[in-house]
Amino acid sequence: MKKNFTIISNWKMYLDTIEELKFATINYDNFIKLTNSENKIILCPSFLSLNSINQIFKSTDIFIGAQNCSTHLNGNFTGQISVESFNKLGIKYSIIGHSETRREFKESNIDIANKFSRLIDFGISPILCIGEELEEKKAGKTLDVLTKQLDPIFKIMENSYNKLNHLELLIAYEPVWSIGSGIIPDQDYLENIFSWLHKNFSGLRNKIVFTLLYGGSVNAENAKFLKNIKNINGFLIGKSSLDFQEFEKIVKYGI
Ligand code: PEP
Repeated sequence: MKKNFTIISNWKMYLDTIEELKFATINYDNFIKLTNSENKIILCPSFLSLNSINQIFKSTDIFIGAQNCSTHLNGNFTGQISVESFNKLGIKYSIIGHSETRREFKESNIDIANKFSRLIDFGISPILCIGEELEEKKAGKTLDVLTKQLDPIFKIMENSYNKLNHLELLIAYEPVWSIGSGIIPDQDYLENIFSWLHKNFSGLRNKIVFTLLYGGSVNAENAKFLKNIKNINGFLIGKSSLDFQEFEKIVKYGI
Protein backbone atom coordinates (compact mmCIF):
# COMPACT_ATOMS: atom_id res chain seq x y z
CA MET A 1 0.00 0.00 0.00
CA LYS A 2 1.40 3.42 -0.93
CA LYS A 3 1.75 5.56 2.16
CA ASN A 4 0.62 9.07 1.51
CA PHE A 5 2.81 11.22 3.74
CA THR A 6 6.58 10.84 4.07
CA ILE A 7 8.56 12.42 6.88
CA ILE A 8 12.32 12.57 6.61
CA SER A 9 14.33 13.43 9.69
CA ASN A 10 17.74 14.90 8.87
CA TRP A 11 19.91 14.65 11.97
CA LYS A 12 22.70 16.64 10.28
CA MET A 13 25.68 16.82 12.74
CA TYR A 14 23.62 17.98 15.70
CA LEU A 15 24.45 14.95 17.85
CA ASP A 16 27.64 12.95 18.23
CA THR A 17 27.43 9.27 17.36
CA ILE A 18 26.90 8.17 21.00
CA GLU A 19 24.06 10.69 21.37
CA GLU A 20 22.53 9.50 18.09
CA LEU A 21 22.46 5.89 19.30
CA LYS A 22 20.96 7.01 22.59
CA PHE A 23 18.30 9.09 20.82
CA ALA A 24 17.37 6.10 18.64
CA THR A 25 17.24 3.56 21.48
CA ILE A 26 15.47 5.77 24.03
CA ASN A 27 12.78 6.65 21.50
CA TYR A 28 12.67 3.26 19.72
CA ASP A 29 9.18 2.21 20.84
CA ASN A 30 7.75 5.65 20.23
CA PHE A 31 9.28 5.86 16.76
CA ILE A 32 7.65 2.53 15.89
CA LYS A 33 4.30 3.76 17.24
CA LEU A 34 4.48 6.78 14.92
CA THR A 35 4.42 4.71 11.75
CA ASN A 36 1.11 3.53 10.40
CA SER A 37 -0.52 2.79 7.06
CA GLU A 38 -0.69 6.52 6.27
CA ASN A 39 2.84 7.67 6.91
CA LYS A 40 6.40 6.70 6.24
CA ILE A 41 9.35 7.81 8.38
CA ILE A 42 12.94 7.95 7.15
CA LEU A 43 15.69 8.78 9.67
CA CYS A 44 18.98 10.15 8.31
CA PRO A 45 21.72 9.92 10.95
CA SER A 46 25.39 10.77 10.43
CA PHE A 47 27.60 8.35 8.48
CA LEU A 48 29.27 6.98 11.60
CA SER A 49 25.94 5.84 13.06
CA LEU A 50 24.30 4.75 9.81
CA ASN A 51 24.97 1.03 10.15
CA SER A 52 24.11 0.82 13.86
CA ILE A 53 20.90 2.81 13.51
CA ASN A 54 19.94 0.68 10.54
CA GLN A 55 20.48 -2.43 12.68
CA ILE A 56 18.41 -0.97 15.52
CA PHE A 57 15.41 -0.41 13.22
CA LYS A 58 15.89 -3.58 11.18
CA SER A 59 12.58 -5.40 10.60
CA THR A 60 10.55 -2.32 11.61
CA ASP A 61 8.64 0.16 9.46
CA ILE A 62 11.22 2.89 10.13
CA PHE A 63 13.53 3.47 7.15
CA ILE A 64 17.10 4.75 7.29
CA GLY A 65 18.83 7.06 4.83
CA ALA A 66 22.27 8.61 4.44
CA GLN A 67 22.82 12.37 4.45
CA ASN A 68 25.11 12.39 1.41
CA CYS A 69 27.15 10.09 -0.81
CA SER A 70 30.22 10.12 -3.03
CA THR A 71 29.99 10.66 -6.78
CA HIS A 72 32.77 8.09 -7.13
CA LEU A 73 32.40 4.34 -7.28
CA ASN A 74 35.47 3.53 -5.14
CA GLY A 75 39.21 4.23 -5.03
CA ASN A 76 41.50 6.95 -3.75
CA PHE A 77 38.88 9.30 -2.34
CA THR A 78 39.88 10.00 1.24
CA GLY A 79 37.01 10.75 3.57
CA GLN A 80 34.25 9.79 1.14
CA ILE A 81 31.53 7.16 1.55
CA SER A 82 30.48 5.02 -1.41
CA VAL A 83 26.98 4.22 -2.51
CA GLU A 84 28.08 0.61 -2.81
CA SER A 85 28.59 0.59 0.98
CA PHE A 86 25.00 1.75 1.47
CA ASN A 87 23.81 -0.98 -0.83
CA LYS A 88 25.73 -3.66 1.08
CA LEU A 89 24.38 -2.39 4.42
CA GLY A 90 20.81 -2.37 3.14
CA ILE A 91 20.44 1.43 3.30
CA LYS A 92 17.61 2.33 0.94
CA TYR A 93 17.75 6.15 0.77
CA SER A 94 20.26 8.96 0.50
CA ILE A 95 19.88 12.72 0.60
CA ILE A 96 21.73 14.50 -2.21
CA GLY A 97 22.04 18.17 -3.08
CA HIS A 98 21.26 19.48 0.39
CA SER A 99 22.02 23.21 0.40
CA GLU A 100 24.48 22.70 3.26
CA THR A 101 26.54 20.19 1.23
CA ARG A 102 26.18 22.27 -1.95
CA ARG A 103 27.61 25.22 0.01
CA GLU A 104 30.23 23.34 2.05
CA PHE A 105 31.66 21.28 -0.82
CA LYS A 106 30.89 23.71 -3.67
CA GLU A 107 28.84 21.02 -5.39
CA SER A 108 27.52 21.79 -8.86
CA ASN A 109 24.22 20.60 -10.30
CA ILE A 110 26.26 18.17 -12.41
CA ASP A 111 27.99 16.74 -9.32
CA ILE A 112 24.58 16.15 -7.79
CA ALA A 113 23.27 14.55 -10.98
CA ASN A 114 26.29 12.21 -10.86
CA LYS A 115 25.36 11.22 -7.33
CA PHE A 116 21.79 10.66 -8.50
CA SER A 117 23.07 8.38 -11.23
CA ARG A 118 25.31 6.46 -8.81
CA LEU A 119 22.42 5.94 -6.38
CA ILE A 120 20.01 4.57 -8.93
CA ASP A 121 22.75 2.27 -10.27
CA PHE A 122 22.85 0.69 -6.81
CA GLY A 123 19.10 0.62 -6.23
CA ILE A 124 19.03 3.41 -3.66
CA SER A 125 16.25 5.99 -3.73
CA PRO A 126 17.54 9.56 -4.04
CA ILE A 127 16.17 12.27 -1.76
CA LEU A 128 17.00 15.18 -4.02
CA CYS A 129 17.06 18.64 -2.39
CA ILE A 130 16.48 21.72 -4.49
CA GLY A 131 15.82 25.33 -3.57
CA GLU A 132 16.70 28.95 -4.13
CA GLU A 133 18.74 31.48 -2.15
CA LEU A 134 17.03 34.58 -0.76
CA GLU A 135 18.55 36.90 -3.42
CA GLU A 136 17.26 34.58 -6.14
CA LYS A 137 13.79 34.65 -4.61
CA LYS A 138 13.89 38.45 -4.39
CA ALA A 139 14.94 38.64 -8.04
CA GLY A 140 11.95 36.45 -9.03
CA LYS A 141 14.29 33.70 -10.24
CA THR A 142 13.08 30.77 -8.15
CA LEU A 143 11.69 28.68 -11.00
CA ASP A 144 14.80 29.37 -13.14
CA VAL A 145 16.99 28.11 -10.29
CA LEU A 146 14.87 25.00 -9.81
CA THR A 147 14.91 24.35 -13.56
CA LYS A 148 18.72 24.51 -13.60
CA GLN A 149 18.90 22.17 -10.61
CA LEU A 150 16.48 19.68 -12.16
CA ASP A 151 17.57 19.68 -15.82
CA PRO A 152 20.61 17.38 -15.40
CA ILE A 153 18.46 15.02 -13.33
CA PHE A 154 15.78 14.83 -16.03
CA LYS A 155 18.52 14.09 -18.59
CA ILE A 156 19.74 11.14 -16.52
CA MET A 157 16.20 9.88 -16.00
CA GLU A 158 15.53 9.90 -19.75
CA ASN A 159 18.05 7.08 -20.15
CA SER A 160 17.42 5.28 -16.88
CA TYR A 161 13.72 4.61 -16.49
CA ASN A 162 14.46 0.89 -16.16
CA LYS A 163 16.66 1.58 -13.10
CA LEU A 164 14.01 3.81 -11.54
CA ASN A 165 11.38 1.11 -11.86
CA HIS A 166 11.72 -0.22 -8.33
CA LEU A 167 12.78 3.01 -6.70
CA GLU A 168 11.03 6.00 -5.27
CA LEU A 169 12.29 9.45 -6.18
CA LEU A 170 11.85 11.99 -3.39
CA ILE A 171 12.19 15.65 -4.30
CA ALA A 172 12.51 18.01 -1.37
CA TYR A 173 11.88 21.66 -2.16
CA GLU A 174 13.90 23.49 0.48
CA PRO A 175 14.21 27.26 0.09
CA VAL A 176 17.71 27.95 1.42
CA TRP A 177 16.51 31.06 3.25
CA SER A 178 14.00 28.98 5.20
CA ILE A 179 16.36 26.25 6.43
CA GLY A 180 17.10 26.83 10.10
CA SER A 181 15.71 30.39 10.00
CA GLY A 182 12.27 29.82 11.49
CA ILE A 183 10.76 31.51 8.40
CA ILE A 184 8.59 29.59 5.94
CA PRO A 185 7.19 30.69 2.56
CA ASP A 186 3.61 31.90 2.33
CA GLN A 187 0.78 29.84 0.92
CA ASP A 188 0.70 31.39 -2.59
CA TYR A 189 4.42 30.98 -3.01
CA LEU A 190 4.31 27.32 -1.97
CA GLU A 191 1.23 26.51 -4.02
CA ASN A 192 2.83 27.97 -7.11
CA ILE A 193 6.08 26.03 -6.66
CA PHE A 194 4.46 22.74 -5.78
CA SER A 195 2.01 22.93 -8.64
CA TRP A 196 4.97 23.65 -10.97
CA LEU A 197 6.91 20.68 -9.52
CA HIS A 198 3.86 18.45 -9.77
CA LYS A 199 3.39 19.40 -13.43
CA ASN A 200 7.05 18.69 -14.16
CA PHE A 201 7.01 15.25 -12.59
CA SER A 202 3.48 14.03 -13.24
CA GLY A 203 4.24 13.53 -16.94
CA LEU A 204 6.59 10.75 -15.79
CA ARG A 205 4.01 9.12 -13.58
CA ASN A 206 3.83 5.90 -15.60
CA LYS A 207 7.63 5.63 -15.45
CA ILE A 208 8.62 6.67 -11.93
CA VAL A 209 7.18 6.87 -8.43
CA PHE A 210 7.84 10.31 -7.04
CA THR A 211 7.06 12.17 -3.82
CA LEU A 212 7.24 15.94 -3.35
CA LEU A 213 8.36 17.17 0.05
CA TYR A 214 8.76 20.53 1.69
CA GLY A 215 11.76 21.31 3.91
CA GLY A 216 12.72 24.43 5.85
CA SER A 217 11.85 25.25 9.48
CA VAL A 218 9.01 22.74 9.74
CA ASN A 219 7.80 22.62 13.35
CA ALA A 220 4.79 21.59 15.40
CA GLU A 221 3.13 25.00 14.88
CA ASN A 222 3.37 25.18 11.10
CA ALA A 223 3.03 21.46 10.24
CA LYS A 224 -0.73 21.57 9.79
CA PHE A 225 -0.60 24.63 7.53
CA LEU A 226 2.15 23.07 5.40
CA LYS A 227 0.43 19.69 5.21
CA ASN A 228 -2.64 21.38 3.77
CA ILE A 229 -0.74 22.88 0.82
CA LYS A 230 -1.73 21.04 -2.33
CA ASN A 231 0.90 18.63 -3.70
CA ILE A 232 3.02 18.61 -0.54
CA ASN A 233 3.26 14.90 0.29
CA GLY A 234 5.94 14.97 2.91
CA PHE A 235 8.44 16.97 4.96
CA LEU A 236 12.20 17.01 5.29
CA ILE A 237 12.88 18.18 8.82
CA GLY A 238 16.15 19.18 10.44
CA LYS A 239 16.32 20.73 13.91
CA SER A 240 12.74 20.04 15.09
CA SER A 241 13.08 16.34 14.36
CA LEU A 242 15.69 15.91 17.10
CA ASP A 243 13.25 16.88 19.81
CA PHE A 244 11.15 13.72 19.92
CA GLN A 245 8.05 15.37 21.43
CA GLU A 246 8.11 18.04 18.72
CA PHE A 247 8.72 15.45 16.00
CA GLU A 248 5.80 13.38 17.26
CA LYS A 249 3.50 16.42 17.08
CA ILE A 250 4.66 17.18 13.52
CA VAL A 251 4.02 13.60 12.42
CA LYS A 252 0.58 13.59 14.03
CA TYR A 253 -0.41 16.96 12.58
CA GLY A 254 1.01 15.82 9.28
CA ILE A 255 -1.40 12.94 8.83
C1 PEP B 1 17.05 20.51 6.51
O1 PEP B 1 18.02 20.11 7.14
O2 PEP B 1 16.90 20.13 5.35
C2 PEP B 1 16.10 21.42 7.13
C3 PEP B 1 14.99 21.66 6.51
O3 PEP B 1 16.45 21.94 8.35
P1 PEP B 1 15.47 22.73 9.36
O4 PEP B 1 14.23 21.91 9.50
O5 PEP B 1 16.27 22.80 10.62
O6 PEP B 1 15.19 24.08 8.76
